[in-house]
Amino acid sequence: MSDIFPVVFGICLDAEAAWIGRDPRNASKPVLLSNGTFGIYEGLLPLLDLLDEKGVTASFFVPGLATERHPDAVRAVAARGHEIGSHGQNHRAVSGLDEAEERAELAGGIDALEKVLGTRPTAWRSAGWDWSERTLDLALEAGVTVSTNFHDRARPYRHTKDGAPVPLVEVPVQWHLADAPFFTYGGQVGRVIRPAAEVQTIWEEEFDGLYDWPGAFYHLTLHVELIGHPGRLKMLARHIDTLKARPRVRFMTASELAATVA
Ligand SMILES: [Zn+2]
Repeated sequence: MSDIFPVVFGICLDAEAAWIGRDPRNASKPVLLSNGTFGIYEGLLPLLDLLDEKGVTASFFVPGLATERHPDAVRAVAARGHEIGSHGQNHRAVSGLDEAEERAELAGGIDALEKVLGTRPTAWRSAGWDWSERTLDLALEAGVTVSTNFHDRARPYRHTKDGAPVPLVEVPVQWHLADAPFFTYGGQVGRVIRPAAEVQTIWEEEFDGLYDWPGAFYHLTLHVELIGHPGRLKMLARHIDTLKARPRVRFMTASELAATVA
């Protein structure tokens, strides 16, 4: 792997689910939910066109609730050749759930995608990158083989249980290599939306450092409803050009990178 530098784009298509998962009472707040459906109505197609234009194959993560409400959007992503991974059923943080609820959250999201796509996703990202003490066992039980949740390493690695390797590979993420910390607002007073150019600088400083670390890779986490605005998409186009200018860069899906881990 040292002759190439993997780049993974992990893109969440949350639609209404991120808001409803945070608080079920948000289901009756159409304006709040419209922050998420912007991704469906406006953001998704230009983003897919940009990825096509730049030759980037990404991994999209879709909650079951968004899959059920917007199956054509999920099919459109799959039709462009991107990987589709699960993102839970109702985008609920699992550390506050009991075992039956967490199992239903995990399996429900996988089932919803299977109904629309005809295949069971094996890559998965939890809502808010949240795990409980039982999540490893439940993910293995559900047939998940690729997780994109932990922040502990700059390289993909295999999970272990009681010191023994298990059939689950982690493709780690970082908060500073995501759009949400800089672009989420949602009416939360005190939050500050950052300029896209500043965010590009943060991402590219870290990319430049990672590029020189043996075995490291670059994993950018995006949300269609946040990155899919016209000015931010122009920034993303410039960012992809910066990445592609480095000779060892290879765009891969999360599952393609996971497959390289022993
Ligand atoms: Zn999400």
